Amino acid sequence: MSTTSTPPALRNVAVVGGSYVGAATAKELIETLPPTHRVVLIEKQERFGHLFAYPRFAIVAGHEHKAFIPTTLPPPHLIVRAAAESISPTSVALDRAVELDGETVQSIDFDALVVATGTKLTPPGTMPGESKQEGIDYLRSIQEDIKQAKKIVILGGGAVGVQMATDLAIVYKGEKDVTVVQSRTLMPRFHPLLHETCMKRFNDLGIKTVLGSRAVVPEGGFAGVKEVKLEDGRTVEADFVIQSTGQIPNSGPLKSLALTAITPSSFIRVKPTFEVAPFAENEQEATKRIFAVGDIADSGAPKAARPGAIQAGVVARNIAALLSGAPSSSFENYTPDPAAIHLTLGVVESIVFRNPPSTDPSKPLETFNGDPTLFWKDDGKLDMGIEGVWERRAPGFVKSEEDYWK
Ligand SMILES: Cc1cc2nc3c(=O)[nH]c(=O)nc-3n(C[C@H](O)[C@H](O)[C@H](O)COP(=O)(O)OP(=O)(O)OC[C@H]3O[C@@H](n4cnc5c(N)ncnc54)[C@H](O)[C@@H]3O)c2cc1C
Repeated sequence: MSTTSTPPALRNVAVVGGSYVGAATAKELIETLPPTHRVVLIEKQERFGHLFAYPRFAIVAGHEHKAFIPTTLPPPHLIVRAAAESISPTSVALDRAVELDGETVQSIDFDALVVATGTKLTPPGTMPGESKQEGIDYLRSIQEDIKQAKKIVILGGGAVGVQMATDLAIVYKGEKDVTVVQSRTLMPRFHPLLHETCMKRFNDLGIKTVLGSRAVVPEGGFAGVKEVKLEDGRTVEADFVIQSTGQIPNSGPLKSLALTAITPSSFIRVKPTFEVAPFAENEQEATKRIFAVGDIADSGAPKAARPGAIQAGVVARNIAALLSGAPSSSFENYTPDPAAIHLTLGVVESIVFRNPPSTDPSKPLETFNGDPTLFWKDDGKLDMGIEGVWERRAPGFVKSEEDYWK
C-alpha cells in the first residue's frame, strides 16, 4: 500500500515595502531562509519606481516610462500588490482582497515581518498614484510646466533640489531663471564642504539661492502663483514652483500595535539589530517578530539606499536566527557608516562625497573627526543609465524597446 502526503504549507516572512531596501531585504531573505519559509513582499506600487531618476525625468522628456520597472521574485516567493493597513503580532491586514494560495484573503499571517515602508516626499520625490501610467502622466505634466516657465523656484536645497537646479541650468542652457530657497545650508546633513561645493557650482551655472528662510505654502498650493512669499517677509518671483522639502515617514501601519515605537518625527524606533523597539512592555511582547529597516527606521543610519542594502543583510540573518529559535541577545548588530552621496550636479558632472567619521554618532554633524572625501566625475548620462537598472532589477525582461512600456 502506498500513501501520499501533502507537503506542509510554507510559512511566511512578510516584507512591507518593495523599494530599494525592501527589495534588498527580500533578496537577502531568499538566500538565508530555511526551506520551510517563503518571502511575501507587500508593495502598493504597481512597478518598482527607480526614484533616483524621477527629478531628471521630470525635466528631460522621452525616458519617463523607464522609471517604472516590472519586478518579480523567484517561486515560491511572491509579491502581493496591496497596501498594508495595520500590523498585529502575527498578521498584516491589507487595504484590499488578494489571491494567495488559491484563496481570497485580506490579511497575511507571518512568522516574522520587516517594515520597509520608507517616507513619502513631495512629488517628484515620490510619485502620486500607484500605477505606471499615472507616474508617466505626472512626469510629462511637470516636463510641460517646466518648458512653459521662465522663472522657476525650487523649495529645498537637499539632493532633489540641488539635482533639479543644476539639471535645469544645463538642459535649458541658462534660459531659465532658477532660484533655490533653503532654510539652512545646501545639503545640510553633510559636512559644510558639500554646501561650499554646491554653491560654487550654482554660481558657475547662474543659479540663484535664497538661504536662511522658508516659503509660506499658500492654502491652495503653488499652482498659478506669481511669487513665493518667505517667512521673513521677502518674496521671490516665480511662474513655476517645485517643492522638494520635507518627508513624511510611512509608519502608520505599526501605530495601533506599537505607538511607543514611533518617534516624535514619526520614524520607527529600532534596536541595532533592527528589531522594533517600543518603550511600553506590552508592546515589546507584541513586536517580538517585527523588524524595521531603511529610511523608516530610526537606526542612526543616513537615509540612503546604499546603507539600506547592508541593513538588509543584517535583518535577514537576524530573522533566520529568530526562526531557528536563537535568543535575540545573539542577534547581529548594525553600525552605521558616515553619510555618503553620489550627487548629480548637472547631467554629466557629478560628485561622490563622504562625511568624515564622527566621535559621537548621535551628533554626527557636530562631532566630525577628520576631513570629508570628495571627487568629481564627468561620465553622467542623460538617461542616468536607466537601461542598466532594468537589466539589474528585471534580468532578461527587455527584448525590444516596447518592453520598457510594460
Ligand atoms: C531623487 C532622489 C535621489 C536619490 N539618490 C540616491 C542615491 O543616488 N543613492 C542612495 O543611496 N540614495 C539615494 N536617495 C535616497 C534613497 O532613494 C532612499 O534612501 C531610499 O529610497 C530609501 O529606501 P526605502 O526602501 O527605505 O524606502 P522608500 O524608497 O521610501 O520605499 C518605501 C516603499 O514602501 C512602499 N510602501 C509604503 N507604505 C506602504 C504600505 N503601507 N504598504 C505597502 N507598501 C508601502 C512604498 O510604495 C515604497 O515603494 C535618493 C532619493 C531621492 C528622492
